[in-house]
Amino acid sequence: LTVLGIETSCDETAAAVVRVAPDGSRQILSDVIRSQTGEHEAFGGVVPEIAARAHIRILDGLVSAALKDAGVGFGELDAVAATAGPGLIGGVIVGLTTAKAIAMAAGKPLVAVNHLEGHALTARLTDGLPFPYLLLLVSGGHTQFLLVEGVSRYRRLGSTIDDALGEAFDKTAKLLQLGFPGGPAVEKAAMRGDPSRFQLPRPMLDRPGIDLSFAGLKTALRTTAEANAPLSPQDVADLCASFQQAVTDVIGEKSRRALALFAESHPQTSPALVIAGGVAANTAIRARLEAEAAKAGARLVAPPGRLCTDNAAMIAWAGIERLAEAQAAGKSLDERDAPARPRWPLDAEAAAVIGSGR
Ligand code: ATP
Ligand code: MG
Ligand code: FE
Repeated sequence: LTVLGIETSCDETAAAVVRVAPDGSRQILSDVIRSQTGEHEAFGGVVPEIAARAHIRILDGLVSAALKDAGVGFGELDAVAATAGPGLIGGVIVGLTTAKAIAMAAGKPLVAVNHLEGHALTARLTDGLPFPYLLLLVSGGHTQFLLVEGVSRYRRLGSTIDDALGEAFDKTAKLLQLGFPGGPAVEKAAMRGDPSRFQLPRPMLDRPGIDLSFAGLKTALRTTAEANAPLSPQDVADLCASFQQAVTDVIGEKSRRALALFAESHPQTSPALVIAGGVAANTAIRARLEAEAAKAGARLVAPPGRLCTDNAAMIAWAGIERLAEAQAAGKSLDERDAPARPRWPLDAEAAAVIGSGR
């Protein structure tokens, strides 16, 4: 199977061609990404309309480049896969409509991919990981623990009750004037900082369960920054290090609990913890999760940073997985009438609640 993937749900415009051979071997034939960071920097965050306009300007060029890099023509594709949500709706419409047009003109099926499923299945593209596994999805818009039982089969074990962790990194960077996107900037500053200098809270650690919260930590950070103003470069580094230490402690402990739960419900399976989403690129968090997984006798699967943040290879791969599943069931798959969805939770119960209009 050879699939063209298109990703436009946020501020990365991306196109990629991924192929799986009959023997199951997987190959990213091309993977082009254009980040719009520069266009949004002045605003300290992604401006939806600027993002949508940029996608429409550059997407066709990126699709051509992806096909050229891969040495593949439209006729050799088995399908076109595009992110159909969740995300900024203007951008999603640009990518999905482009994919529909290509699918129609080339006479190929369209696969409407959930962006989060792209993140969730990346470990199978990079490492061929079998189901089931435990997934920690930590991105700009989501922070949740999911039990991944199969393609389109997710069960949520816990999630943030307020901000996403990537959002917390971005707001920390904004507060400390480190620029946008914030995650990499905070991580870089933290390397020169003292993580024990400022005592920041570890929200939700005193409570049972796997849910998380980052709003209180954000407030504590702001108060601490104000109390120590004006901030020297060393103060900023120490604040970043203390913040990163606090969230690493929280993520580490919640992962320990999630791994214990997984072992209880799947005693026969050799356990694996997968980390996905932009924050999975953070080396301090990765190191802590490595340690927690080792303690629990589990394997940690952390895809390379480039495949953790938004990209189209993961969308093409999710398309391949959905196609292969349909084929195995003797069904054909073509979702040319799929809507663009600003919200689209991965787990079925949450999706049903939103679908009923509540
Ligand atoms: P979603 O996938 O939930 O729709 P998104 O697509 O915007 O959201 P991603 O592209 O997966 O999110 O991730 C971007 C987020 O990851 C940003 O919030 C960014 O600050 C964060 N991030 C990226 N690199 C790092 C890092 N090294 N450390 C911490 N956070 C990081
Ligand atoms: Mg982005
Ligand atoms: Fe994402």
